[in-house]
Amino acid sequence: MAISSFSSSIPGPANTNRVAAVRDLHILDTPPEDVFDDAVLIAAQACQAPMGSIGFMAEGRHWFKARIGFDAAEIPADLSICAYTIQQPDLTVIPDLREHPEFRHNPFVTEEPQLRFYAGIALRDGNGVPVGTLTVVDREPRPEGLSQVQERTLLALARSIQREMKLRKAERELAEKTEMLDRLHASSEDCIKVLDLEGRLRFMSEGGCRAMEVGAFADIEGCDWLDFWTGPTADDARRAVLRAKLGDTGRFRGFCPTLAGTPKWWDVMVTPILGSDGKPDGLLAISRDITGLQHVEESLRQSEERLRLAIETTGLGIWDLNVLTGERQWSAEARELFGFAPDTVITQDLVLECIHPEDREDIIQTAYTNQLGDSLIFTNTFRIIRADTGQERWITSVGHTLVDKDGRPTRRLGIAQDVTHHVEAEVALRGSQDDLLRQTAHLQSILATVPDAMVVSNEKGIITSFSAAAVKMFGYEPEEIIGTSVKFLMPVPYRDNHEGFMHRYRQTGERRITESGRVAVAQRKDGSTFPMEVHLGEMESGGKLFFTAFIRDLTDRQYTEKRMQELQSELAYMSRLSAMGEMGSTLAHEVNQPLTAITGYLKGCGMILDRMDGEYVPMLRQGMEGAAEEALRAGEVIRHLRAFVARGETDQEVEDLRKLIEEASALALAGAKDKGIKVDFDLPHESPKVLVSRVQIQQVLLNLVRNAMEAMQDVEERDLNIKAEVEDQGSMVRLSVKDTGTGLAPSVQERLFTPFTTTKQTGMGVGLSICRTIIEAHGGKIWADSAPGEGTTFYFTLKVVREEELAEAAEE
Ligand code: ADP
Repeated sequence: MAISSFSSSIPGPANTNRVAAVRDLHILDTPPEDVFDDAVLIAAQACQAPMGSIGFMAEGRHWFKARIGFDAAEIPADLSICAYTIQQPDLTVIPDLREHPEFRHNPFVTEEPQLRFYAGIALRDGNGVPVGTLTVVDREPRPEGLSQVQERTLLALARSIQREMKLRKAERELAEKTEMLDRLHASSEDCIKVLDLEGRLRFMSEGGCRAMEVGAFADIEGCDWLDFWTGPTADDARRAVLRAKLGDTGRFRGFCPTLAGTPKWWDVMVTPILGSDGKPDGLLAISRDITGLQHVEESLRQSEERLRLAIETTGLGIWDLNVLTGERQWSAEARELFGFAPDTVITQDLVLECIHPEDREDIIQTAYTNQLGDSLIFTNTFRIIRADTGQERWITSVGHTLVDKDGRPTRRLGIAQDVTHHVEAEVALRGSQDDLLRQTAHLQSILATVPDAMVVSNEKGIITSFSAAAVKMFGYEPEEIIGTSVKFLMPVPYRDNHEGFMHRYRQTGERRITESGRVAVAQRKDGSTFPMEVHLGEMESGGKLFFTAFIRDLTDRQYTEKRMQELQSELAYMSRLSAMGEMGSTLAHEVNQPLTAITGYLKGCGMILDRMDGEYVPMLRQGMEGAAEEALRAGEVIRHLRAFVARGETDQEVEDLRKLIEEASALALAGAKDKGIKVDFDLPHESPKVLVSRVQIQQVLLNLVRNAMEAMQDVEERDLNIKAEVEDQGSMVRLSVKDTGTGLAPSVQERLFTPFTTTKQTGMGVGLSICRTIIEAHGGKIWADSAPGEGTTFYFTLKVVREEELAEAAEE
């Protein structure tokens, strides 16, 4: 049998076993080591053999860990004699390989190194699996084999090598385990501790040190573990240690802050560490940080508590209906709401009977329908008649339908609550809200009609409300001004005064601006100012102080009054002047004739004197000449007076006709209302411009209006119409003052515009003549139209200044 076939005939499983066992030794291809080299040396010397080896059988090769007498690091397994030896239970001794049937053709026998003698023994691992061999070899055959001592030496060496291998394996395993343990205690978040039986700390895992915020274990080594626990937990810890000492496991949950003081909750387990005698010789304590869990549990407990409280305090009833079985569960609170006794069997009919007949249908449609709508949640507020007291109450019920996977309802559950007082309060509130709305609307309608602006501000002067009239008056939109200070509604010196007032008010409660009707100056958004009259009120609302200011724009009133005064004095002066002028002119006219006559007579007298002689003639002539001169001078004086009057007020300017009419009428009509006169203006939409002496034309108007008013004193119907119409293609404007008075007296009709024509007791009769002088001086005409008993209309015309003329004048 060839060696190659011998080797491969090694049974499979044993072979596989061995391959795994050799790998497990972690020895293949490692460097030489003294302990193996020494064993081979001793073996070779003891057997006086030139060659020896310790080899291990790997897949397909025989690898030498130690060798003596040859160089090969390994040889093919199928050439190795050891492949045979390894399977032998005892020492294999072959005196001459050449004569051995298995090996005589082995190349190591037939060729170099021509091996002859062989002795070898299998080396086994801890489990008895042969993994290698210890061999000695000689080139000389040894028919006598080995001596007994030599054999025993080889066996002893093999045993010692096996022990070495076993030791190494154990060491390796221990190292691995230690490493695993190291990794475990380093990475575990649990706090793993070893205590001695007295409870002193002997070991703490790295993770444990982290969890307990311990810098280094050395800091607490030897400390009494029980000292860490305080309060009731200390007893729990002591009991757990006691149990573990008795061989049992002790568990507890406790509170123990870390060394750094972080409060932590722990779940602790203490177990005994059993010694070889089966008795505890130490304790293993594993603590898990459950602080987070404790929080969750605590908040869960709290929310449960809150829910319970909510149910108790709100009287929330919980009901549950199994749609499939018809089974109903009502909480005690739910029963109480309906007035059902604790033992009443609740049925649909019973519930429906309690529901107010008017609300019943609704409930049947929503809560008791099997036709599911869009939503599985339903809410009803309905009335019930309590089963026990018969009292009517309002209930709100919120339910939720649970469905199976096919969408069929299986259960309905929900809550019910008595909301009677809510409903009642709501009804009352709605009533008072309606009242409030009505009142507010009323107030607002009043405010809308009051022309005064209303500004509400708080104690600090911050505007909280700004009426529509205020918007118009100040030019601010409410959103611009609300929230800012009222001082922005005043110009600078008043602004500062106001701040001072507010400050004083807050300090002393002394009012100043609340004295009503103060006139001050206000400022619009565009910066312009206007006089205002402020009425300020103070009110308290919701414990806060507010000021309400009613502001009246005095611009118009003040302006009008001022203008009136001006006008009045101007007109008074003018009328005096005109009257004087007119009188002068009349006087001049009247006196001129007698003067001319005087002059004529004097001239005649002079001619007579020429024909006379005498001592006194020259004196007479002198006297007459003097008289004639004086008469001429008188004529001059009169002419001068006429010229002065004719010159009149001639400062003419372009004026707005409407403004002119309105101003004059306002003055003339003062008190018209009291006299029961209805005035009506009829002015062109676009007011014409006229080149006039404003004061003179206003004087004309004033005169005509006053006359008209006087003419209506004794009549029932007192209508006055003041009209202006543009005519002659816009070149002229015709003004008329029409009354429903007595009409012109026939006596004055003819001489109406001549001076000193009057029907009035105290009348001067110069008014109309002045009017004519003025109007004619302006290039217009004046006339009257009247029928007795039907009133009078006075007309006068004025020239209109056209746009083109205006533009030209402007260019000049
Ligand atoms: P006086 O008003 O001083 O009399 P006037 O020249 O203004 O002077 O008026 C002259 C007269 O013309 C009046 O006395 C009055 O008889 C008459 N008269 C003027 N206007 C009217 C009128 N509107 N209706 C009736 N008579 C008038």
